Amino acid sequence: MTKGSNAASETAQNLTIGVLALQGAYDAHAQTLRKLGATPKLVRLPSDLQGLDGLIMPGGESTTMLKFLEQRGFFDVLKDFTHTTPTFGTCAGVILLANDVTNPAQKSLGALDVTVERNSYGRQIDSTIVETESSLPGGPLEMVFIRAPRITRTGAGVETLATRGQDPVLVREGHLLAATFHPELGHDTRIHQLFLDMAARHKSRS
Ligand code: GLN
Repeated sequence: MTKGSNAASETAQNLTIGVLALQGAYDAHAQTLRKLGATPKLVRLPSDLQGLDGLIMPGGESTTMLKFLEQRGFFDVLKDFTHTTPTFGTCAGVILLANDVTNPAQKSLGALDVTVERNSYGRQIDSTIVETESSLPGGPLEMVFIRAPRITRTGAGVETLATRGQDPVLVREGHLLAATFHPELGHDTRIHQLFLDMAARHKSRS
């Protein structure tokens, strides 16, 4: 069943949203953004971040993405961007956004006040689908976890919007949204719509 509106929403129409396209599951994010009426732009160079209303950092392999980011000063430019402009991290994207990373420790952008433990859900359930209620209206969310990180600490300013057991799996802090699962897989567009609403609000204020 398709959840969330497929109609291009008015708020999304003037938004240009970057999708970090160094590695990983960026294409499905771009398609979902298009479906919702926003204009996706693949981001491969630091200069591609200019003029964006928001950015999605997809799932994939955070260590590989870091290697690309360490070239041409990309890491520092992205750090400034994520500290000021709406950014939505999914899976590996959350690992990059986090303040602290464990298992093992690795460099991160320090934008989102959480600690994440990489590959934390054990081998036999590396990949699984969980259906659960969340703070989003419209019924249960279907959440696809692929070698997912676990959020093991949330700072005081972090709001939890969905959990898997005791673990926060969808969180928001100011202009940042983070999902440890893959909302771009499947037909439910509610989380992307939430991010577009955040980006539209941010744009109207600045
Ligand atoms: N295991 C990956 C990492 O540690 C994340 C997995 C994903 O993004 N689906 O970077």
